[in-house]
Amino acid sequence: MEKQRQRRCRLVLVPLPFRGHINPMLQLGSILLSKGFSITVIHTAFNSPDPSNHPEFHFVSIPHNLSDQVISSGNLVLLISVLNVNCQAPFQECLVRVVEQQDEQEEIACIIYDELMYFSEAAAKYVKLPSIIFRTTSASTYISRSGILQLKAEGILSLQGTCSTSQDLVPGLHPLRFRDLPVSKFGIPENFLRLISNMSKTRTSSAVIWNTIDVLEQSSLPKIQKQCQVPIFPIGPLHKVAPASSSSLLKEDTGCITWLDQQIQNSVLYISLGSVASIDKKELVEMAWGLANSKQPFLWVIRPGLVDDLEWNKLLPEGFIETVGENGCIVKWAPQTEVLAHGAVGGFWTHCGWNSTLESISEAVPMICRPCFGDQRVNARFVSHEWRTGLQLENPFERGKIERAIRSLMVEKEGEEMRQRAWNLKEMVELCVREGGSSYVSLNQLVELIISF
Ligand code: UDP
Repeated sequence: MEKQRQRRCRLVLVPLPFRGHINPMLQLGSILLSKGFSITVIHTAFNSPDPSNHPEFHFVSIPHNLSDQVISSGNLVLLISVLNVNCQAPFQECLVRVVEQQDEQEEIACIIYDELMYFSEAAAKYVKLPSIIFRTTSASTYISRSGILQLKAEGILSLQGTCSTSQDLVPGLHPLRFRDLPVSKFGIPENFLRLISNMSKTRTSSAVIWNTIDVLEQSSLPKIQKQCQVPIFPIGPLHKVAPASSSSLLKEDTGCITWLDQQIQNSVLYISLGSVASIDKKELVEMAWGLANSKQPFLWVIRPGLVDDLEWNKLLPEGFIETVGENGCIVKWAPQTEVLAHGAVGGFWTHCGWNSTLESISEAVPMICRPCFGDQRVNARFVSHEWRTGLQLENPFERGKIERAIRSLMVEKEGEEMRQRAWNLKEMVELCVREGGSSYVSLNQLVELIISF
């Protein structure tokens, strides 16, 4: 009886068009599909997901009207703010059509939107459907964003063009320092404050789904639930709960798995800075020589756009490839979750995007944290100072320091202790997704709520 009711519900998902947001949203879709719901994904034509990876979903594209100037500016705050203005009308029109065409036997139960696609809520209200917010960053990031708004209101944070480098602890936000606050690359201008204010509000939404895990955020989650008027559902890590499927925008180079098969257990350092972060050529050169001098085997993702738009063979310093020889493998894009689960991988140099952090924790891989901007800074601080499963590589960013950090993580006692703690954490995370665990229970409660709409 219950199952029949569930089958009749369709859910509309609205992802933010970036890899680190599309992935978890599609994973959420797969999970809810396995619970008996039908899934429609309304996405922008910009960075659209590949429907062939999810034949069981219905995909609908809407125009975004982003100018080339905005797209190529690299200013994510600007891009997301413009997206929220430009998509509002097309999304509402699209939603009206989807509602009009809905099958009587399969009515739409609610709209689930990425916290950064907050324009969706007004359209949901317009068609009289409930909405749920989906947050793809950590609960601690949410708290620190609220902290930024408060510090700004108290005059402790000024509006400045650059990010703070202060090592001082932020009052009330342990263990964060001012330099760990999740600000954009461009500091804290007004439009950034407006964006975090908009994404922090629940408006008339009925609940919040969170890709996080109770066991990682025992102090943040209860604080948020206390302030929040609607239920929150921490149901992560989604990549562990969702049935496996590919949703990659870039072609994954699976040859690196064959290379990993030939390496010694726990010996390889995997390096990836995610899908958006970029570094300059000087940093890449220091990284390269730090890696070579450490003599550890490595698998390095150098995606187009990591340093300008150049291919890796045009970027790496002369003599580097000859020096590392068979000890290194470089790819444009890797099947990351498979790489992290591989026994040869003993460390992850990461920018600490939330997905990468969760994926690393889920496979007990200790980390070298080198955050670039935004929530990556918060995650890096929690990895290194709260869960203590990684070390943070701070400035000055130079080859000698990099070499020491790699050796410390991969072959020294400090790294061994982090690996042990990472194993303990992985076991706790596994318990959360098993029957009776916190994420498992939360997911079932979410399903019940949706059915009750
Ligand atoms: N990823 C991947 N292959 C790569 C690098 C990254 O599949 O070579 C995936 C990774 O598994 C993660 C996502 O891309 O799911 C990156 O998300 P994250 O939140 O870590 O960082 P972002 O790209 O949003 O900065």
